[in-house]
Amino acid sequence: MLQLNTPVNKVSGIGKKYQKKLENLNIKTVGDLLYYFPHRYDDFSEFKKIDQIKIGETITIQGRIVSLKTTQARYRRLTITEAYVEDDTGSIKVVWFNSPLPLQNLREGRAIRLSGKVSLNKQQEAFLSHPNFEFIPLRALQREQSETIIQVEEENYSCNTGILAPIYHETGGLNSFWFRRIIKNILSQVAVEEFIPQSILKSQKLTDLAKAFRYVHFPQSQKEISKARERFAFEKIFLIQLKSFLAKATWNQQKAPAIPFNEEFIKEFVQNLPFQLTNAQKKATWQIIQDLSKDKPMNRLLEGDVGTGKTVVSAIAALSVVNQLYQVALLAPTEVLAVQHYKSLRKFFRQLDFSIALLTRSESQLAPANQESAKISRPKLLKQLKRGRVDILIGTHAIIQKSVTFNNLGLVIIDEQHRFGVKQRAFLQENLGLENKKNNLTPHLLSMTATPIPRSLSLTMFGNLDLSIIDEFPKGRKKIITKIVPQAELAKVHRFIKEAIKNGRQAFVIFPLVNESSKMSEVKAATAEHQRLQKEIFPEFKLGLLHGKMKPKEKNKIMADFKNKKLDILISTSVVEVGVDVPNANIMLIEGAERFGLAQLHQFRGRVGRGEHQSYCFLSTSGSAPETTSRLRILEQTNDGFKIAQADLQLRGPGQFMGTAQSGLPDIAMESLSDLKTIEQARQEAQRLIHFDPQLKKFPRLKKELERLNIVTHWE
Ligand code: ADP
Ligand code: MG
Repeated sequence: MLQLNTPVNKVSGIGKKYQKKLENLNIKTVGDLLYYFPHRYDDFSEFKKIDQIKIGETITIQGRIVSLKTTQARYRRLTITEAYVEDDTGSIKVVWFNSPLPLQNLREGRAIRLSGKVSLNKQQEAFLSHPNFEFIPLRALQREQSETIIQVEEENYSCNTGILAPIYHETGGLNSFWFRRIIKNILSQVAVEEFIPQSILKSQKLTDLAKAFRYVHFPQSQKEISKARERFAFEKIFLIQLKSFLAKATWNQQKAPAIPFNEEFIKEFVQNLPFQLTNAQKKATWQIIQDLSKDKPMNRLLEGDVGTGKTVVSAIAALSVVNQLYQVALLAPTEVLAVQHYKSLRKFFRQLDFSIALLTRSESQLAPANQESAKISRPKLLKQLKRGRVDILIGTHAIIQKSVTFNNLGLVIIDEQHRFGVKQRAFLQENLGLENKKNNLTPHLLSMTATPIPRSLSLTMFGNLDLSIIDEFPKGRKKIITKIVPQAELAKVHRFIKEAIKNGRQAFVIFPLVNESSKMSEVKAATAEHQRLQKEIFPEFKLGLLHGKMKPKEKNKIMADFKNKKLDILISTSVVEVGVDVPNANIMLIEGAERFGLAQLHQFRGRVGRGEHQSYCFLSTSGSAPETTSRLRILEQTNDGFKIAQADLQLRGPGQFMGTAQSGLPDIAMESLSDLKTIEQARQEAQRLIHFDPQLKKFPRLKKELERLNIVTHWE
């Protein structure tokens, strides 16, 4: 008997070779294989007599092979197999070219069942092209009613013909024929243990696990497919919710330094800011201040569109903590952003004598906020940090290392939190927290993101976080004027940019990569585009280039040059970070805009519109497909990141929106992420269960399943 956790090599038919191939797909156990779902089905369920078939139909017939011929085409490596198959109503030609099917087993006289599409050849003769086939017992043909044939023979041998045949992603040398055979075999001998509590299955009217596996791989109807999908979607979302409730419970058991609200001090700081906080900023700040005042660690996500002013909110949080003599760490996903935060925080705090430090792979600096920043060696900085002489440390991943030890860390701020991997976040929570060994305190955690996350997603993926949303831009911000530009009108935009530069402005040109996976071709494409624009379009201006392969130092230099107006136009690939602040740059041209998702385009666009000048974003498209244009129109119409994210989610589906590959979520669960109802039901059930049995003592199998769950959120 097979169990879900039986290693795949114990399954008959899977030897070393296939075990390796499966391992490449991350399939190690029988359970992993059963969770390898087909992405669609070929409907071969319609049985026909040969004299009834019509051109273009996909059907199943049964008959005897009456003739058989295999020929080799001379010039190309082409093997053609032709057969005639006959039933009691007529005969039809069957053709295969270079088929992976075991055609050598075909023999004249054998009874066969064929499923495929009926086509018409040049001679106006109907034929079956590339059908799947299975041999059937001769006696099956002797029965007169095709109905009975189906019933009798179905169960026994068929997994390629006469059914809704599952189609699997065929990668790494494994095809659907192989998966069907193996999975059919597994299903006939596996013992599947349910892990969702029966009461929940009942109240949600869900199919049990064993059945759901059968339904998803070998459904007998469309209805069974949807039953299976419902079950698996619910299952995943339910598990994710449970996990986050449990994580929250654990988190809440930890102790954090309570940071009392120093009203006078904070008020004075806020009054001295060069601007007035928006109401949304005030509200978020207040939520954070209240969290900090508790002796449980905060775990809050601050969500706000690019330019809504998250930095100052986090600065106020940092200030409160530093004022109580605890340290603060601020993490940015890139050097450029770390340096920018370092500068803005120093500016915000320039009246104060807190010491602020910068630590990245290539730089370390330290100085009180009210003095000039100064370079310091990395070891010296780390020593100071350990002694508690650094109040705020700003940096990149370079901070998340064992060698970096704090004295008494009170708050960790993570900017663009989704850009950090799960491992890094876990390390942060475990290690940074435990640095405060003396008093066993866990630091408060504030995550920030500029990606507006639709509610369905944030409920699912961030159920354990408290949420603050900044949904308001600072006053006086002018709306970015966005325009779709067909190829023919690109020259006009170029002229517009030239005019603006002559008036003292600057511009961004963003362009997509043909092949993002290959870094070398990225550099080449970026360099070529830079040269083309410099030579042919903007010879009279200074252009700079930013791409993902550059060293941080080079990037910083280009960014600084652009900020200091030494460059007029910054050309950049999509890998370059959002959040870069150059208020004088008020024009952005995005080439090949149709290749980006709306949410991503919106993020790019957030780099302009930061200054006093009216800003423009031009979306240049090479194609003219109407659906592309209608998609991009949404950006013309609104600047509201949440609306855009919601539209993006609906248009592209969660898979594209989030990047399925990294998420670890199966497609089925991904799809349901746009389905708020399933999410809320799963959430309620999870909540009820945890309330009733916080340790899941009565549900050991469920607990185990939770341990296996490894979901990664990562999207851009
Ligand atoms: P983001 O949320 O994208 O991180 P930032 O914090 O970088 O946004 O803020 C963008 C710009 O807006 C900065 O120059 C910041 O100083 C400014 N800013 C922030 N809050 C306000 C406000 N309430 N009024 C005016 N300008 C503000
Ligand atoms: Mg920011």
